[in-house]
Amino acid sequence: MAKTVRVRFAPSPTGFLHIGGLRSALYNELLARRHKGTFILRIEDTDQARLVPGATEALVRTLKACGLVPDEGVILKPNGEVGEKGDLGPYMQSKRADMHRTYADKLVKSGKAYHCFCTERDLLKAREEQQAAGLPTRYNRTCRGLSIEHAMRRVEAGDPYVIRLAIPLKGSVSFKDEIRGDVAFDWKQVDDQVIIKSDGMATYHLASTCDDHDMKITHVIRGEEWISSTPKHLFIYESSKWTPPTFAHLPLLLNADRTKLSKRQGDVAVEDYLAKGYLPEALLNFVALLGWNPTGDREIYTHDELAAAFDLAKVNKSGAVVNVEKLDWLNGQYVKTMDRERYLELASPYLRELTVDTAHMDRVAMLIRDRVTKLSDIPELASPYLKMMVDVDQIIIPWKSQTKEDAAVRLYGVMHALTTLDHATWHSIQNLETVLKDLIEKNGWTNGDTLWPLRVALSGQKQSPSPFELLYALGRERSLARVEQAHRALTT
Ligand code: GLU
Repeated sequence: MAKTVRVRFAPSPTGFLHIGGLRSALYNELLARRHKGTFILRIEDTDQARLVPGATEALVRTLKACGLVPDEGVILKPNGEVGEKGDLGPYMQSKRADMHRTYADKLVKSGKAYHCFCTERDLLKAREEQQAAGLPTRYNRTCRGLSIEHAMRRVEAGDPYVIRLAIPLKGSVSFKDEIRGDVAFDWKQVDDQVIIKSDGMATYHLASTCDDHDMKITHVIRGEEWISSTPKHLFIYESSKWTPPTFAHLPLLLNADRTKLSKRQGDVAVEDYLAKGYLPEALLNFVALLGWNPTGDREIYTHDELAAAFDLAKVNKSGAVVNVEKLDWLNGQYVKTMDRERYLELASPYLRELTVDTAHMDRVAMLIRDRVTKLSDIPELASPYLKMMVDVDQIIIPWKSQTKEDAAVRLYGVMHALTTLDHATWHSIQNLETVLKDLIEKNGWTNGDTLWPLRVALSGQKQSPSPFELLYALGRERSLARVEQAHRALTT
């Protein structure tokens, strides 16, 4: 790659960060890191009507939580407020309004754009006529023929106007998309796009193109929904005699039924996923695989591994299904394999309200760790082991054809052996196992007819971790109370 890579993620601060936005941000960041380039965060806030207060802060914070920190652009300052970093800003797009205006005026002067004075009513009427005639609905170019002098007079007289691109009337435009290959559009399909609105602000198309040029962006990587806008952007590049960047349009994200990903079929906000206890590194791993797999032989990749392998040419063209079961699986893998201390720290807010005994809390957290998919599962998984007692259906206590009486004898023997144990023995799963296995051997019992009733007595469930792990996690008091309760249920 000849030029130093400069890429940007350019969200509009109109709400939450979408899972697709996180993927765009990540692929941009990965390309920058792969080529030791610059990752820029630009906030596209020119559409004042759609601005949501606090959305910029939330966007920057969520990206940072996921490990995506811009080298330039809008950043989070140490005090938690947003600020800007870099010489080619400002990166809050609305601050460049004057610059956009200057570019628009130049386009008007060179005949590549024109003032349009059509009112809402005019536009509506034209649209209705087009619809009635079965024609595509687009601007009917009424004002395109006005001379600049005439237009300027009306502007000076205070007539409301917008500025539109004078898109070529025939021929076609083509470009090479890094992911999709050669893409062509007939100019006939392209509308005379508004570039300056009646409030004087640039639309996305003009602002984004001018900013990409001024910020020396080398690659524009964005969702496929923008591909039909690219001809308009190329027209601005060509008319302004600028070299366009390389374009790469990422595959659409789909629901399981292959319809376009929608809020109705599940969460799409990254913040919601984080709030539910999905880990940022698992989410990042998950979105990285929406349309790309670095090596194809596994699913788990660190952020560094992704950056080392990233290649736009290997991104798929076809839509990528957002499969939440896969995210659950990935997240579970991260939970299982992360550092023990970090896991306990992450689990503790979910358990703190359920117990005050931190040693007990940690033992229970470890007990359920293999079954945690997202951190918010923790309270439900842990609750049976935090309560003093658990309901047991006495029918399920005996093992296979074992009688109730026989199961009661085993539980009584176990209870007696456990009562004599000191604290040190109780604090090791291994010791508990040795004690119980010795007891079984000494009495000529079998594992099944002793450990099954014990396990059910302790957990209340047919399926659960081993009785040794349960004894250890529950601790002495709860364990003895539960065994005693089960014994009583069998003998009364
Ligand atoms: N502001 C646009 C958005 O909200 C950016 C599209 C682009 O990357 O060009 O997605």
